Amino acid sequence: MNVKVVSLSSLICFVCWATIFSQETGIYVPPQIQKIYNGNTRSWNGEPGKGYWQNSADYYLKVKLDTETNLVTGSGDIVYYNYSPDSLKTIVFRLYQDIFKKGIARDYGLNEKSIGSGTQLKHLSINGVELDPDTAGYRSYTNYYVKLTEPLAPSNHLDVEIGWEFKIPEEQTIRMGKYREGGFFVAYWYPQIAVYDDVDGWDRTEYLGQVEFYNDINNFEVEITAPENYLIRATGDLLNAKDVLTEEVYSRYENALTSNEVVRIIRREDLEENITAGNENQTWYYKATGVPDFTFACVKNYLWDGVTAMADAKTGRKIFADVLYKDGDRNFDEGAYFSKIIVEYLSTGLPGVEFPYSHITSFCNGNSAGGGMESPMMTNDGAPYSRVSTFSLLLHEIAHTYFPFYMGINERKYGWMDEGWATFLTKDLVSEIDSNYSHYQNIFKRYGPVLGKESDVPLMIPSRLVKGYPLTAAIYGRAFFAYVALEDLLGKELFKKALKEFINRWEGKHPLPYDFFFTFNDVANQDLSWFWNPWFYDLGYCDLGIEKNEAGEIAVKLIGNQPVSVDVIITYHDGSQQFVNKNPEVWKNGDTEFILQTDKGKKIESIKINDERIPDLDANNNYLNLD
Ligand SMILES: [Zn+2]
Repeated sequence: MNVKVVSLSSLICFVCWATIFSQETGIYVPPQIQKIYNGNTRSWNGEPGKGYWQNSADYYLKVKLDTETNLVTGSGDIVYYNYSPDSLKTIVFRLYQDIFKKGIARDYGLNEKSIGSGTQLKHLSINGVELDPDTAGYRSYTNYYVKLTEPLAPSNHLDVEIGWEFKIPEEQTIRMGKYREGGFFVAYWYPQIAVYDDVDGWDRTEYLGQVEFYNDINNFEVEITAPENYLIRATGDLLNAKDVLTEEVYSRYENALTSNEVVRIIRREDLEENITAGNENQTWYYKATGVPDFTFACVKNYLWDGVTAMADAKTGRKIFADVLYKDGDRNFDEGAYFSKIIVEYLSTGLPGVEFPYSHITSFCNGNSAGGGMESPMMTNDGAPYSRVSTFSLLLHEIAHTYFPFYMGINERKYGWMDEGWATFLTKDLVSEIDSNYSHYQNIFKRYGPVLGKESDVPLMIPSRLVKGYPLTAAIYGRAFFAYVALEDLLGKELFKKALKEFINRWEGKHPLPYDFFFTFNDVANQDLSWFWNPWFYDLGYCDLGIEKNEAGEIAVKLIGNQPVSVDVIITYHDGSQQFVNKNPEVWKNGDTEFILQTDKGKKIESIKINDERIPDLDANNNYLNLD
């Protein structure tokens, strides 16, 4: 038995350490968060705690879209369930459309013509008591707080009836809107109850334009009314297809739902023809269970293609992949086929988790700048120029199914836990479609402008506190390269195992960054804090360089602080080459120099760091000519 003599001073030191880095995680865990992990909702090994809880709601909504005036009129019953141990004295609604309201602060300026009156609340009753929406609560930017006369007790529910309307702005679209004649994508459209969680209580984050989702997992039954010959595709399953589509379109749709080949459901020859039954407004019934949001596309004179994709080969479970686009939207005639490949890749490749939804519908908004927006079972996409960009866009948006939807990520604080993953999950499949396309370089273009500058901020700074380009650079760029380095470090197999474990543990829940760090530590059975700190917590950058050291050895230097793989090509005078590949573990013990074992019998001509896969700040020190 080893007997250690512990001096009083080192004991005191240890106590300090244990207080700051509780459970000796090696990473900073704020005291507010430590309390949670010492409680029963989360665990220090990254699993949800035995007492983990989450609130949820059932939304029964009716909405009418007037395609002439752009007026959206809605009414709904919301049943909100309180599974928290707290009595809730207030209920917080998000009225997203207030971002367009005059006088509201925003993350960026809007076209003046788009400024309007935001969400008009027409009716409110809580637990059967009629309230005046103007006096029952108060508006703060896009949030609406209503004080409850009777607190909502634990294990109890609240019945809300609400009526509202807003006008879709003509000039400007923010993740939703009227994009062109016959092309509406309607999101952020209903009064939504904010998240109440074990970290902050109510999420009071305002929707100012930049940060996106943080939603509970809810159920929706929605009746959408739109004029004749508008097609509605929405989150959830369409329950009355037979009643709303013409016989011919319905039979093609039915066929597509089981087809392994792409079915052209609405074709060029159908444009300007009837595609809906009857000659007046149609009401479409959609139902979705266990989703964090509900959106819909409302289109006229659009083409519609659909095909099935295998989500689980063992059970034979297939999902429906479909696209809505206008004749002439570049590459979208391949969109359904692309979506099929994507869903099958995500289900079996990375993350290798069965696609969780019954369909994925992609709406093309025609914007040539590209870009897109995800929502559960729906994506809203531009029309980029190249085939590979279209594929990459669809892949990115569909990959969001896992983050932030299947995993209820709070991207208002941790944007890297959704954009970073969507960017990362794109990299392998997109290079299979086009081997000349460098996803790494493409992402580097996004990250490069902040690299080595003050505005390259650590990922652990809450996203809502970072504005503008630095946020984009961090949550897409820095996060992407961090995950790439992590995959290199663990190797593909262990990395996938850890990622799948993280997903299995937290699907349908609200994981924090610590749940991610601790799960990876747990599955890898190692303390990865030496890696988490520089990539997620610290200011710094990535830079490798090549030097001949004092002893005459050739060394790869870690000049920046972010650990990355070493990928070096040594060219000898006789024309032969030696390739050195080491994963980021070479920097684990704080070493900043890695000595290359070269062939002593041969004369070296040059040494080159292959910097294609790393966000290297200074390319000038990546090449050494010894000739
Ligand atoms: Zn994204």
